[in-house]
Amino acid sequence: MSSPGSAASATPGATTLAVVGAGVVGLCTALQAQRQGYQVTLIDRDRPGLSGASFGNAGYLATELIDPLSTAKTLRAAPRMWLDPNGPLALPLGYLHRILPWLARFMLAARPQNAARSRQALLQLNRAALPAWQRCLDDIGAREQLLPSGYLLVWESADKLADAQDHAEYLKQWGIRTELVRGQRLAELEPELAPQLSHALYFPDAQQVREPYQLCRQLFAAFQQRGGCFVEQPVEAIRPGERRVTVQTSAQSLEFNQAIICAGAWSRKLLKGVGIEVPLEAERGYHLTVESGPARLNRPIGSAERRFVISPLASGLRVVGMTELGGLKLKPFRRRFAALRHHSRALLPSLKGSSATVSEWMGHRPTLPDSLPVIDRHPKHPRLLFAFGNQHLGLTQAAISAELVVSLLANTEPPIEPAPFRVDRF
Ligand SMILES: Cc1cc2nc3c(=O)[nH]c(=O)nc-3n(C[C@H](O)[C@H](O)[C@H](O)COP(=O)(O)OP(=O)(O)OC[C@H]3O[C@@H](n4cnc5c(N)ncnc54)[C@H](O)[C@@H]3O)c2cc1C
Repeated sequence: MSSPGSAASATPGATTLAVVGAGVVGLCTALQAQRQGYQVTLIDRDRPGLSGASFGNAGYLATELIDPLSTAKTLRAAPRMWLDPNGPLALPLGYLHRILPWLARFMLAARPQNAARSRQALLQLNRAALPAWQRCLDDIGAREQLLPSGYLLVWESADKLADAQDHAEYLKQWGIRTELVRGQRLAELEPELAPQLSHALYFPDAQQVREPYQLCRQLFAAFQQRGGCFVEQPVEAIRPGERRVTVQTSAQSLEFNQAIICAGAWSRKLLKGVGIEVPLEAERGYHLTVESGPARLNRPIGSAERRFVISPLASGLRVVGMTELGGLKLKPFRRRFAALRHHSRALLPSLKGSSATVSEWMGHRPTLPDSLPVIDRHPKHPRLLFAFGNQHLGLTQAAISAELVVSLLANTEPPIEPAPFRVDRF
């Protein structure tokens, strides 16, 4: 492993690059920049993949989620979701005054023309997402992380059959294949699901990863094997200049030719320091991981009515959900874990009374009001770039986001149209 490079100590000819944030987006970005010949230093306050959202996600590559979070439909459903004590939406009182301006922007993003713009951009990203992961994992010999699992979106109420049919028709126009399944076919696909389920949409082309944290470790191991350097220190400030970018950590000042901020939900503060305000919020999500036990699933299962997901991962059965607009500082609320227990037991009866070890976790999804990430260059300081804000889809979109930001860095042909992801769009 090489030492953290000041630009002066770099391998002759190699451009030095700092990647700030070693979640799945930063890791993919660091590897992609190495492939282009950069000498990369990855900087995180913690071990890679451990302290951000990349640790505890559901491991599902949700390429069918092409609608932005803010649509007329979600806004109509929001009050009911919020009032339900086990519901998926929470607005903690201690943060309400801080979130109001963001919520106003979120509502504006639901205007039909705004939602359509976000949908087009998400489509672009999501269509390119899986091939980008395949390229990344083939390159590092970790293709076994990708599982062609399929995905099942289930409904309990028979009177919601039309919802499933409408959703299937809607997705078909974007080329997303689904199959409506019921009865015996549903039971064959997932024998352990509660028998009272009415129907489901099966997504045969969907994929998942084996285990999100293990994936991060594999990405990091490849990065190190290729000569990448890692600095485990919090970054306090970034100062882009004409010839260098200075990264100030808690312990030292490091100089690079260029830098990319991939600090997930914490990126806002770092951007403020370089003169850019972005309406980035932390959308808190929770998980339970049932480490071993009786319940088995063949693929990730989503509940259309309860709005949560259960994924079979190498570490166990992971139950994820909740959108809690609570910022970066509040502690997790215990009742959210109870809600996830309640929902998962309803769908998977064998979890009731199980003595399996269950771990609990809360993480911060980095979310902008229009549901699109920022993947761009600083408008005034070309040596500084950004890749953050992938909301519920950061695992899905990590490899393609990395390809896009590194194409901007290296001035090569971008794999998709970058305009929707500009930092100055707000
Ligand atoms: C419950 C839950 C379930 C999810 N399920 C899925 C799913 O199934 N599929 C999917 O696609 N997405 C899912 N997501 C979303 C996904 O996990 C995130 O979008 C993604 O992990 C974001 O990755 P990231 O690298 O941008 O940020 P993070 O993983 O949060 O990483 C940011 C990193 O930056 C570091 N950092 C921040 N500030 C500093 C600083 N000042 N100095 C040094 N280091 C710093 C942090 O320590 C952290 O390591 C889920 C999220 C949650 C919460």
